[in-house]
Amino acid sequence: MFAHLRPQADDPILVLMRAFQADPRPGKVDLGIGVWRDAEGRTPVFGAVKTAEERLWRTQDTKSYVSFAGDPAFHAAVGDLLLGSVTRPRAVTATTGGTSAVQTLLALSQVARPAAQVWIPAETWPNHRVLAEHLGLATRAFTYLAPEGTGIDREVLLRDLAQAQAGDVVILHACCHNPTGIDPDPELQAEIVDSLARTGAVPLVDCAYLGFGAVPEADAAFLRRLASLPEAMLAFSGSKSFGLYRERVGLALVLLEQPGVVEAVQSQLTRLNRVNYSFPPDHGARVVTEILADPALRTAWEAELAAIRTALSANRQALAKALRARLQSDRFDGLAAQSGMFAMLPLGKERVMRMREDFAVYAVGTGRVNLAGVTPRTTDRVAEAIAAVLR
Ligand code: PMP
Repeated sequence: MFAHLRPQADDPILVLMRAFQADPRPGKVDLGIGVWRDAEGRTPVFGAVKTAEERLWRTQDTKSYVSFAGDPAFHAAVGDLLLGSVTRPRAVTATTGGTSAVQTLLALSQVARPAAQVWIPAETWPNHRVLAEHLGLATRAFTYLAPEGTGIDREVLLRDLAQAQAGDVVILHACCHNPTGIDPDPELQAEIVDSLARTGAVPLVDCAYLGFGAVPEADAAFLRRLASLPEAMLAFSGSKSFGLYRERVGLALVLLEQPGVVEAVQSQLTRLNRVNYSFPPDHGARVVTEILADPALRTAWEAELAAIRTALSANRQALAKALRARLQSDRFDGLAAQSGMFAMLPLGKERVMRMREDFAVYAVGTGRVNLAGVTPRTTDRVAEAIAAVLR
């Protein structure tokens, strides 16, 4: 049965990680995989998570199954975090991380409308396309960045989105766009909402970096605007915002216009869980619920999130400043105003490879860099590498 199988192409980020690990040069710099790291290169467990886990360990008296859709207290806690005072009929399920939230919502869209096209930003998390194609959904790209790579091409983006049809799916990033770090401003956000209202296409909002750009309330602003549409889908990942990467914390939420539709959508979500994994993981979800429900823990979590945000922002400013000094140009000044963990340096694959070969500075081939890796210790080396390959 299996002898004819050929290996899949490796994920470029994993290839990059392996090459980095095998590189013997001292002072090598990893700007690859999308994981937060502190200045010492560690990804510590949040203190609030440790406390919540300790409480769970003391009080939890069973690990028996919860339910196909997970714990309603988790649905409510993350629903409130994302949507604040927006109260709307909704169907919701816990998932295995943000990836499976996106996958579940795409699969739900396909059940509802097999001919739905999935509109994906030209620059995005590569898995969006992989997941849609794996399901056999038709995909369309919509323009995101303008050609010079330093801002959104508003006009062309809106022109592309105007072609979406009722019941198509439009993937949008809630905040801290991966890989560009460039989010729509409030005016463009409103125009995107208007466009979706006109076409009847349904947003699938991917929220994987809440709190990495601004306080969670502010990072949720675009998402809440989109929640005013008759129908909207939200995919939440707890990997970055709670540092629970390997625990696989995710939530898929569908906002509906008519309360009468909730039961059917909820049962479709449940069926998707059954065929995928029966019961979603619960430990990480329960930790998140505990943190959000307890005012002291929540304050502690928000402070830890703020520290990450401050460090990322400082790393950005330092890189922009170092590049200005080295290049004697304002070409990279925009970096400082961008948001979240990533930036996409318009360098081209060849220059990115030269940074790897000549300076042991490892960025993804698209030019995406994880700003967590641009620390006070590495900024000069990164800036020097970028300046050298641009010379
Ligand atoms: N969406 C985006 C935009 C991401 O960057 C990520 C993580 N790399 C995810 C979703 C999924 O995260 P996870 O499955 O690890 O929760």
